[in-house]
Amino acid sequence: MSALTPDGTTVAFVGLGHMGGPMAANLAKAGYAVRGFDVVPEAVAKAEEAGVTGAASIAEAVAGADVVMTSLPNGALLLGCYRGEDGILAHAQPGALLVDTSTVDVDDARAAADEARAAGLRALDAPVSGGVVGAEAGTLAFMVGGPEADVEAARPVLDVLGARAVRCGDSGAGQAVKLCNNMLLAIHQIGVAEAFALAEKLGVEDQALYDVSSVATGQCWALNVNCPVPGPVPTSPANREYQPGFAVSLMNKDLGLALAAVEKTGVHAELGRHAGEVYRALNEGETAGKDFSVVYRAIAERSGIER
Ligand code: NAD
Repeated sequence: MSALTPDGTTVAFVGLGHMGGPMAANLAKAGYAVRGFDVVPEAVAKAEEAGVTGAASIAEAVAGADVVMTSLPNGALLLGCYRGEDGILAHAQPGALLVDTSTVDVDDARAAADEARAAGLRALDAPVSGGVVGAEAGTLAFMVGGPEADVEAARPVLDVLGARAVRCGDSGAGQAVKLCNNMLLAIHQIGVAEAFALAEKLGVEDQALYDVSSVATGQCWALNVNCPVPGPVPTSPANREYQPGFAVSLMNKDLGLALAAVEKTGVHAELGRHAGEVYRALNEGETAGKDFSVVYRAIAERSGIER
């Protein structure tokens, strides 16, 4: 099979939502022939405006495509799109490379890859971090699971969409790393928020804690970039009423997947479980659509801190 460079390569894109839409648009912009399908006609129409050829079905989108990308809400929908007589596996051409960028359960990712291989196709799980901003800017980070040769084959496509694509291991390993990373991120964000609440109660300025911790042992993305109090990091969501960024609803979804894996594997993850409870509660009500650093506001309120 020839290199999957823009010239002469057709990419099918199934799921043209917040992430899939801009990814498909960037591939079209880079010169790939892109055929897109979504169950929501408005999503297809928007992709067409960005140079994607709209398709009326999965079958129409994937027929003859060299690469089939998916960006879907969950593992059940992913497997639903793969399986059945109208599905991707039945209609993709032999040897086509399937690249799933959705965040799904590790077992679902492995099942999808196994079934793809049994159908004579190649498959990668390639979940992303970087959010809608990264999808639009083409700066996503991909965590990829699957055979090394297939990861290398996918690189020209992934390079258009992202700044980094790291092979994490065999099928499912990309999803596994994504879930571990986001469980850690949730714990960090809560910890940083608690530290600022405590500093406030002890009469210390936010800026003083930031100036020390951001270059000392407390440094982490949740502090240095996504600082949960307004002020120290002008670009952080705290300065714009916690507009996402990375929404609580998405963190809650990823923690649900991570904690299902914690249950299944029997890992003793007290902080991960606690983070799951915190974000489940924040996911109820208006905070669901806020950036996940809004956890500071909940902690401050319960601590009697007025801002
Ligand atoms: P979204 O809901 O905006 O997009 C999903 C799209 O899939 C929708 O347009 C929906 O209509 C379409 N869809 C659903 N069922 C379909 C089917 N059977 N056939 C074709 N299309 C179908 O979600 P999103 O924010 O774009 O996220 C997509 C994936 O990326 C999710 O798995 C999410 O967890 C992951 N993710 C999202 C972000 C983010 O910031 N939004 C960041 C990292 C990872």
